[in-house]
Amino acid sequence: MSIRPATVRRSRRYNLRLIKATWPYTVQDIATLLGVHKNAVGRWMREGLQADRQQRPFLIRGDELARFLEARQKKRRTKCGIAQFYCFKCRAARDASSRRATLESQRSGKVWLKAICDHCGTRMNKVLGLRRLPQIGRHLMITKPESEHIIECGEASVNRDLEKQS
Ligand SMILES: [Zn+2]
Repeated sequence: MSIRPATVRRSRRYNLRLIKATWPYTVQDIATLLGVHKNAVGRWMREGLQADRQQRPFLIRGDELARFLEARQKKRRTKCGIAQFYCFKCRAARDASSRRATLESQRSGKVWLKAICDHCGTRMNKVLGLRRLPQIGRHLMITKPESEHIIECGEASVNRDLEKQS
């Protein structure tokens, strides 16, 4: 468990007025425009920023970028319960449909969960520390997409998963 200085994850507000709505931006363009690292933009894409992936480099429309960042700033002010997700369409904390979530990926001590909004059917994402997985597993049935295998949420199974990765 690495301990990072608190300043690393301090939330930032971006100047959304710099963004031109109809302009197609590359990841590098966005990084330069907003003064963030390219990896941050990559993370936003995993969190739901939509890009045109038909060509490389990926292109992201300005209005999509502004929509995402606005929703993200609102998300920061919205409290989600441990088993809840933030729905970008409802713009609210929502429960997972059928109380099910999918473990999308796992790395660097973090897991990416996906679920369907029980209110509007939109896909929702959540990133959380691996150590909180057993806790969330008490509220949600968590499956892996490739196997539909239900993860036992004991510490032992989590550790086994970690060993497999390294
Ligand atoms: Zn929703």
